[in-house]
Amino acid sequence: MTDLIKSNLANVKQIIEESARSAGRHPADIKLLAVSKNFLAQIVLDLAQYGQQEFAENYVQEGVEKVQYIKKNHPEFDLIWHFIGPLQSNKTRLVAEHFDWVQSIDRIKIAQRLSEQRPAHLAPLQVCLQVNIDAGPTKSGVNPALALELADEVRKLPNLELRGIMTIPDPQTDWDKQVLIHSRAKVIFDQIRNTIASVRFDTLSMGMSSDINAAIYAGSTMVRVGTALFGERRKT
Ligand SMILES: *Cc1c(COP(=O)(O)O)cnc(C)c1O
Repeated sequence: MTDLIKSNLANVKQIIEESARSAGRHPADIKLLAVSKNFLAQIVLDLAQYGQQEFAENYVQEGVEKVQYIKKNHPEFDLIWHFIGPLQSNKTRLVAEHFDWVQSIDRIKIAQRLSEQRPAHLAPLQVCLQVNIDAGPTKSGVNPALALELADEVRKLPNLELRGIMTIPDPQTDWDKQVLIHSRAKVIFDQIRNTIASVRFDTLSMGMSSDINAAIYAGSTMVRVGTALFGERRKT
């Protein structure tokens, strides 16, 4: 299994590198986030031993258990944990206490709670706004038209640091369509960055296993990859 993980990691890194070069970008400007949801802590350790440092989880309970288990039993890995799933207000405390990043901020109330609940001995929680780039009414994420306003409120919260935006577009198989939707996110990202003028607003989190190339072409600085690293997830 670890051999497979090792070659998957090498493959994904190669896709990132080739995508960056063909887009005229520097590969080092694109971060790989390993999405370990639905997999056991062991697979995180397998990947960590090959140098992967940043991991993401979607479900609060599962994520917190994995974070705690690895911190306690494998302190030699200094991992950075991102929360990327939907977040209800009654679960914010656990996330504020155990994660380094939250990418799924879609309303001010959640951001305020995270800021209030962030323990004082920890660095500010690094956050991205999740933007509903397809504008589907049932999908999570802030409406693109309201993203700038939300960014302006979130960046004033004391224990959060606003780092960028995250998008999860509907799956598209067509490369042009993938680029089109990711380019729309890039426009929103640039608009917020130019308005709030923060150098640390540097994260455009978009692209998953099936659209890494198009996302990087459109300007992604962080791809979130699960299947291409770990294989198919079991249904929950
Ligand atoms: C599951 C998930 C991913 C990873 O998707 P893959 O297609 O398995 O690479 C990325 N981002 C989010 C928000 C996810 O929920």
